[in-house]
Formats: sequence, structure tokens, C-alpha cells
Amino acid sequence: MPKTLIEPFRIKSIEPIKMTTRAQREQLLEAARLNVFLLRAEDVLIDWLTDSGTGAMSSRQWGAVMEGDESYAGARSFYRLERVVQELTGMAHFVPTHQGRAAEKVLFGAVCERGQLVPNNCHFDTTRANLEYLGVEAQDLVIAEGLQPSLVHPFKGNIDLARVAALLETEGARIPFGMLTVTNNTGGGQPVSMANIRDYAALLKRHGKPLVMDVCRFAENAMFIKMREPGYAQVSIRAIVQEMFSYADGCTMSAKKDGMVNMGGFIALRDDRWIEPVRNGLILAEGFPTYGGLAGRDLEALAVGLEEGIDEDYLRYRLRTAEYLGERLEAAGVGFMKPTGGHAVYIDARTVLPQMPVAQYPAWALCNALYLEGGIRGVEVGSVMFGKRLADGTETFHAMELVRLAFPRRMYTQSHFDYAAEVIAEVKAKAAAIRGVRITKQPRLLRHFTAEFAWAS
Ligand SMILES: *Cc1c(COP(=O)(O)O)cnc(C)c1O
Repeated sequence: MPKTLIEPFRIKSIEPIKMTTRAQREQLLEAARLNVFLLRAEDVLIDWLTDSGTGAMSSRQWGAVMEGDESYAGARSFYRLERVVQELTGMAHFVPTHQGRAAEKVLFGAVCERGQLVPNNCHFDTTRANLEYLGVEAQDLVIAEGLQPSLVHPFKGNIDLARVAALLETEGARIPFGMLTVTNNTGGGQPVSMANIRDYAALLKRHGKPLVMDVCRFAENAMFIKMREPGYAQVSIRAIVQEMFSYADGCTMSAKKDGMVNMGGFIALRDDRWIEPVRNGLILAEGFPTYGGLAGRDLEALAVGLEEGIDEDYLRYRLRTAEYLGERLEAAGVGFMKPTGGHAVYIDARTVLPQMPVAQYPAWALCNALYLEGGIRGVEVGSVMFGKRLADGTETFHAMELVRLAFPRRMYTQSHFDYAAEVIAEVKAKAAAIRGVRITKQPRLLRHFTAEFAWAS
């Protein structure tokens, strides 16, 4: 048996990508106010800004697109997708949304009240923003190992059950439900173990609180459970997925991740308690409950995508790709979150720029350097994303300074990864020349998307 793990697909349709010169990239980045979110995608060679909605659909999905039933109410495509979601989640109720944050907004809007508090391993940025917008406190309670980038632990996405238990004792009255993000995006795409999901759900239940899972990367999480958790090596991904969902009372999903589509999301709920306000909120914000902000063809593509996303060969190749880039970084002396996560590699910018003051946003600076050096676009997960400017003009900073390279699904081949590894090693070799940044303009929430910067020195 050859050892090389190949992409388990061949390419039927291609999209050219364009090389630029360093001088061009310098101009382009200046014009984008030193914020790679403000670049034009066609000026990027390897776009690893996000794995969200950026992947390649399969020929089966494109075929399903033609099957879309565009009826306003009761479309066949809705019932087809509903069957797939019910079968995977075991939950009775399902409504589509146009993407994950819409699912959050509709669910939280229906269920939460000002002054409440929601625990999670780590809230994703839109999840936190949607809660805070409603006046709800979002607490991150990931295990301590999850905050140490170089520490190897099989399930760094686990929530700290002792801290949750303490919070339930002191603040129980404020908690409408517990959340759990699988995999833990903010913490480095790290998985949550089945035991942790089970115990967290049981703990919440003892206090009469439901568990809502943020399941954007449920399939990758299931594959990690299969590879790392005792007792699951022989269990099918489908059965692992079903067990994971069996502990939850509801979930929000961005189908742009493990749904394998370019746009879509959903809410699923096990029982009746929230479905009425959710449907009403959906009609107000998204659309009638059988299409919820999506076209019939989108529902069809998602029904196929959810099945393809749990294919074991695909998942094995996907997780191995991230691991492979990690091995190349290790060889170059570049630190990263270990072990590598499902959808991304998170470079620890501190290992490239140990001297740069955090007030110059080292992860942001590294992100810019990757673009300047090789046309690679990643995203900062550090003090621009999670820090805050307070009313008195001072800043709070994030515990980690990471650059996330997130991999679109079924999109880039091994030579793209080899190229990126070379670029990153080159950036590390020239680290002394990397310039920090300062913020010249920022919005109140989700500032990383639109903030503007200047060189710090
Ligand atoms: C992407 C993501 C979301 C939000 O989904 P969108 O489709 O981008 O709105 C929520 N939670 C997690 C963990 C995510 O990765």
C-alpha cells in the first residue's frame, strides 16, 4: 500500500489564479489600508482567509442544483434536506437560514434576554457579537490546555467542566442554555471529545439547562473522535455524528463549513419549546420556514453536501493536509497550535515576532507579511479580532497572537501547500524586517473586518 495520501477526487473544472509582483502587492496592501479583508480576491494567489463558503462543490452537488424546487412554501427540496438533517441530528425541527450567523441571530433573538449569560468552550466571533448585541454576556470556558499553543492534547476544544459547574452554582439563574462549539474554531479548530460533550450535557441537564451546539465543523470533530478517542476507531463517522448530536437539545450550523456549500445554514431543535418563536423570528428576518433565506437549489446542494462531508476518505485527506503543513512549519522552526486542527493551521505569531510589542499587533503584522512575501491571505486571530478599545482609549489584548490559514474544502492541492510552506519559512527568515501596525479607524463590533491601519514605525 503506497504511503502517499492523495486528494480523493479529480478535477473537472478549474479556476485560474494570478501571480503578482512584490511591488504590486505592496501597493495593493497600502490601498487596502493594511487590512487583507479589504483586498480584492483576484489579487490574492492562495486565499486561506477562511474555509467558510469557499470550497468546491462536487459534480453530484451541481447536478442536485438543477433539481431545486423553487416553490415559496413546502418545496420538495426543503423536505429532502429536512430528512438528511433529521437523520444526522435526530432532532425533530429544522429551519434553514442563509448562513450561520443568521441561525444565531434568530435563535438567540427568540430565546435570550438582556442580562443573561451563556457559557461556551469559545464563542465564535459572530456568536459572541450576536449575544452581546442582545445584552447577553458570552463566557469562554475552554480547558487551560486549549490556550497553550504548543501543548499537545487530543481534545483542546474541551470545555472546562469544573468552571462550568462553578458558574452554574453562582450564576445559574442567568444562564438560559449552555453552548459548545465543535470543532472549537476560535481555539484553533480543536476538537471536543465525545466524553466532554456527554458530561457537559449531563451537567447542564442536572441544572435544567439545554445544550445548544454550534456544529459548523461537526464532521471534522467526528473524524478526530474516531482517530483519537478510545472506543471509536471502529465506529462509522455517521454513527459518531449521530451520537454527538444525541446529547444536544438544539444546534446552529453554518453550512458553509462542513455542509460543503457556498452559502447556507440552519437551526435544528430537538423538542417544541423554542420552535414557535424561532419560526416567527425566521419569517421576520430570513424567510418562510421552508426556505429560510435560501433558494431551493441551495437546499438541494446542502442535502448532498452534508452526506459528502461525512465521507471518511475525504475527512482523512482533509485532516492530513493540515497536519502536513504543520510538519513543514515544524521543520522551519515556526510555532503553531498543536496538534493541527481540522480546517486550518494557526501559526503562533509570537514564535516569528517575539520582540514585537502586542500593541503593534504581531499576528496582524505577520498576516500582512505573508501576503507581501507570497500572495497568501490568512486571517489574524489575536488582539485585533478579540481585543477592545475601551472608552478611555486604552486597549485590552487577546491571550494569543495567531494567524489562521484556513483551507477551503477540495480546493487546493499538495503543491499549493508546499509553496505556502516555502513562503512561511522565507517570512520567518526575514522576520526582523516585518513592521507592526496601529489602528487608524475602527467600528464598534467585529472591528477586524473593516478596521484601517498604518505602519507602527
Ligand atoms: C463560521 C462560523 C459561524 C458563523 O457562520 P457564518 O455562516 O459565517 O455566518 C459560527 N460559528 C462558528 C464556529 C463558525 O465557524
